[in-house]
Amino acid sequence: MSDKFQEHQIRDKIVIHYKYTMGGQSKFFLELKNNKKIFGTKCKKCGKVWMPPRINCSDCYEATDWVELKQTGEIKISTIVWYTTSAFIQAVPYGIAFIKLDGAQTAFNQGIFSENLVPSKVKKGQRVKAVFQKDREGKMTDFFFVPEEEWEKWISKPEYEGGG
Ligand SMILES: [Zn+2]
Repeated sequence: MSDKFQEHQIRDKIVIHYKYTMGGQSKFFLELKNNKKIFGTKCKKCGKVWMPPRINCSDCYEATDWVELKQTGEIKISTIVWYTTSAFIQAVPYGIAFIKLDGAQTAFNQGIFSENLVPSKVKKGQRVKAVFQKDREGKMTDFFFVPEEEWEKWISKPEYEGGG
């Protein structure tokens, strides 16, 4: 018999069930889930409207107030996604964009879908409007954006609806 070490491996997996908190930003996710509303925050001092919401203004560090935002806006930067993680592979190809909602002064990253997903539909300056999943969990994937002119078509699908 050889004294040479032989390693034995067994493939296995670990399933972890856990919860995490959204902390001070919980209101944003609860409003998405329960009321189909998009909330940002407004600085008590300088008045800057943040989306994604900031509990304290990142410019002057003052506290902010919650403010309901419009569900329409404009693409600032975008691309079309062809490679992604297992969580989103069914949706490929899809657009992703930094969107500045009307009334907000900052932009946030969110998915863009279109009946005709071409760069002319997912580009800087394109007007977009939010569409909500009917089955919501209080996550960023509860909503996405579509070109404004396609909105009626998207919310008439059984799995989606317009905002509150
Ligand atoms: Zn401020």
